Amino acid sequence: MYKTLTLKRGKEESLRRFHPWVFSGALVSMPGQNDDIEEGDIVRVEASDGTPMGVGHFQIGSIAVRMLSFDDIDITPEFYGEALRQAWLMRKALGLCRPDNTAFRLVHGEGDFLPGLVVDIYGDTAVLQAHSPGMHFAREIIAMQLTQIEGLDIRSVYYKSETTLPYKAHLDATNGYLIGHSESSVAVENGLKFNIDWLRGQKTGFFVDQRDNRMLLEHYSAGRRVLNMFCYTGGFSVYAMRGGAAQVHSVDSSSKAVALTDANIALNFPDDNRHEAFAEDAFKFLDNTAKGAYDLIILDPPAFAKHRSALRNALRGYQKLNAAGIAKVAPGGIVFTFSCSQAVSREQFRLAVFSAAAQTGRKVRILHQLTQPADHPVNIYHPEGEYLKGLALYVE
Ligand code: SAH
Repeated sequence: MYKTLTLKRGKEESLRRFHPWVFSGALVSMPGQNDDIEEGDIVRVEASDGTPMGVGHFQIGSIAVRMLSFDDIDITPEFYGEALRQAWLMRKALGLCRPDNTAFRLVHGEGDFLPGLVVDIYGDTAVLQAHSPGMHFAREIIAMQLTQIEGLDIRSVYYKSETTLPYKAHLDATNGYLIGHSESSVAVENGLKFNIDWLRGQKTGFFVDQRDNRMLLEHYSAGRRVLNMFCYTGGFSVYAMRGGAAQVHSVDSSSKAVALTDANIALNFPDDNRHEAFAEDAFKFLDNTAKGAYDLIILDPPAFAKHRSALRNALRGYQKLNAAGIAKVAPGGIVFTFSCSQAVSREQFRLAVFSAAAQTGRKVRILHQLTQPADHPVNIYHPEGEYLKGLALYVE
């Protein structure tokens, strides 16, 4: 039987609307040392009148419980198995698992009703990332259930949570294989090959969330001189090459990222001298770029605001970066600009880009409003899950 946490009066409303988080302030009291509840434990949540509200993972912090179910049930291995199967059925419906597309996100946390869990698939390898102690403790069960999903042929499961778990929880998670050991680390996205380094790379090794936006960019690449800022593994660069770009320059401050980009270009376009990568700071690079040197610029920086407290600075950062990009693109050029900060809303980002455009004085039109792809779904009860936003701009 799970331990019970009780909500203050009236604090059950958000759970009635299936919002998956219980904030610590909504609880009558946070469990103390005498309560025998540990971080990562499964707890029952009750309304003040004793009505059961469901079960979830307990955690010390402002989000105290991440709900797994709004019914008073046992969280068994089969519970995870069924949630994973539902996630897989949805990806199957999206047509994302094909010989020419082996990289996709299978589980997107709250978006798949599994708060705290991310699973990316690269061929027959699943990379599992826990963002909560509860999911960390469930990792072996989840890994085993992943290998049992019918139609999804997972042979290896790699666990990569050293940097995503709350470090105060002292879980000492180590990255490593939970099941098997992958032979190949090349995945295919829309027919393009990518070396995925889940051992050392950022996140799970690749940013699958830009897949649709890369496809769109490909359509605008023919004959253009392309600048891909914050290139990481060179995703946008590889698509621009296939789209027939006249020239592609990739920039990242990390020399490791530049090497990854060069390797991915070589994997798809060996001996093609249209591409060059530079290990440089993006702002400096743009400062030293002549006006009109590029016809298509991609700005896909890391999250400038990881928390709400950093919001003002982040918005200033977006404005500065976008002003530089819009100022430098050639007449008739296109700018793809993104923010992956969850703390920055779509409206705030648009306002920052608007201010940037106004600062340059150029005529700017919005061609496309961009977002995260369907394998990063937003749980309708949890709008906070919408994080990636972007604009494709036409600059006269
Ligand atoms: N566009 C990429 C993802 C970008 S991730 C994709 O489609 O996969 C953000 C990248 O920005 C990281 O690789 C990081 O090394 C790089 N970066 C961070 N700060 C930077 C800076 N000031 N100048 C250039 N690159 C930077």
